[in-house]
Amino acid sequence: MKNPITLFWFKNDLRVSDNPGLMEACHLGRVFPIYILDDLIAPPVCKRGGASAIYLHHSLLSLDKSLNNTLNLYKGNAEEILLHLIKKYPIGRIFWNQSYEPWMLEQDKALEKKLTELQVRYTIFNDSYLWSPEKVKKSDGSFYKVFTAYKKKAYTIEPRTPVGMPKNPVFIKDTFNKTTLNDLHLISDHELEKKIVRHWTFGETAAHYKLKNFINKKLAGYKKDRDYPYNDHTSKLSPNLHFGELSPHQIWDITNTLGRKNAHKEDVEHFLNEIIWREFCAYLLYHFPHLYKDNFQEKFDTFAWEYNSTFFKAWKTGNTGYPLVDAGMRQLLQTGYMHNRVRMITASFLIKNLMIHWHQGQEWFWNHLVDADLANNSGNWQWVAGSGADAAPYFRIFNPITQGEKFDKEGLYTKQYVPELKSLPSKYLFKPWLTPKKVLDEAGIILGKTYPQPIIDLNTSRKKALLTYTKLKKL
Ligand code: FAD
Repeated sequence: MKNPITLFWFKNDLRVSDNPGLMEACHLGRVFPIYILDDLIAPPVCKRGGASAIYLHHSLLSLDKSLNNTLNLYKGNAEEILLHLIKKYPIGRIFWNQSYEPWMLEQDKALEKKLTELQVRYTIFNDSYLWSPEKVKKSDGSFYKVFTAYKKKAYTIEPRTPVGMPKNPVFIKDTFNKTTLNDLHLISDHELEKKIVRHWTFGETAAHYKLKNFINKKLAGYKKDRDYPYNDHTSKLSPNLHFGELSPHQIWDITNTLGRKNAHKEDVEHFLNEIIWREFCAYLLYHFPHLYKDNFQEKFDTFAWEYNSTFFKAWKTGNTGYPLVDAGMRQLLQTGYMHNRVRMITASFLIKNLMIHWHQGQEWFWNHLVDADLANNSGNWQWVAGSGADAAPYFRIFNPITQGEKFDKEGLYTKQYVPELKSLPSKYLFKPWLTPKKVLDEAGIILGKTYPQPIIDLNTSRKKALLTYTKLKKL
């Protein structure tokens, strides 16, 4: 082959810096950078949701700029597109980073077979995770099911250090390819796009800025402050990590260097712990590819779920009558994000108070989160349900009243998303139905009119859930 080029296939690694596959491709000479929108092969419940698709659109726009407008976009079956490109261009090698969604792993297997038959050289890298899921094993070769044991083992393997930016890369544009970013049709709801653009910055440069800002200003105090939903005490790096605008290695590195200078050990360790939870979720999905649809603990298959469309609608739209739950669900609709503690509270309310199957909540989050991530979403929904590998104990049912009084004492978060309660004194904010009529009148609130009555009684539903869970425990 004369003057071969290297094809670099961007997947969930939409960045130029610390991308060892891209770096190696650039070392070899001219690089043909491509992105393929291929959701044909994803199971229906795993097709990309609206908020995440909007984020992807803007992230691709930013990546294209970083590559001097040479990102080649395609839509369709990835294998067919790659084989077509191999025929058309002098492609000597193909590099890509592994994505760990089960159908992508299947796709890779089939593709590897084809490329081997065609004698096309290819290399698959792992750069979305600090530790390849297949590498962290127990001494008997089985996989870990408990987070702390997994973490202990993972810590014995030092993650690689970031590799920086390729020097003087030469990228090639496919001038025959007419597919533009708009042709990918990632944006179907322009109103939603406006909201998302208002709340998020996209791409690698913005992600680094956010990371540095977090390390310099928010890491100190993270252990405690992360639980308070008002004021953005967490990093908000979840979409950056999901789309690979940042690598976990870059986060690991800066947290262990600059972070350790800026913050106490317990803040640093706590933040790294969250990063390792992300690893653990991907690890579980890799070893249990049905995580997104099947209970990890089979005994949950007999759980007596209920379905009430009125309750479900109230939950989705933030009209349950429980202000903290409603604030979280409205934050999701308005920003494409929900604070972690509130995710746990709203999920617990759906599963344990309304007894609605975790699948329903998982799907709603999937369609509305900018950081929708198959491993993290499934892993966490199963954690809350108690059906997961290392899950919350069944008797842990978050109480949205006491949680609000503890973590949103002043009510600033709740009032931001449930403005109809803005004049209600903090003392009553999380239980408006127990508020004296006079106080409600003064705050201009008519329960059942300006703000809903609670759709369910917390104590009764809690007792019912505990009974159902206790029966299951005996199985
Ligand atoms: P930070 O506190 O700054 O944490 C740093 C990073 O660690 C996060 O960006 C994320 O990548 C990772 N992380 C933090 N907490 C967790 C966790 N519990 N599990 C796995 N990784 C974690 N996270 C997603 O990225 N995508 C999802 O689809 C998703 N769905 C969730 C559904 C439910 C029901 C729950 C309870 C949690 C879910 N999470 C999900 C985990 C967590 O809520 C978010 O990662 C976190 O809120 C993102 O905010 P942050 O970046 O500011 O987090």
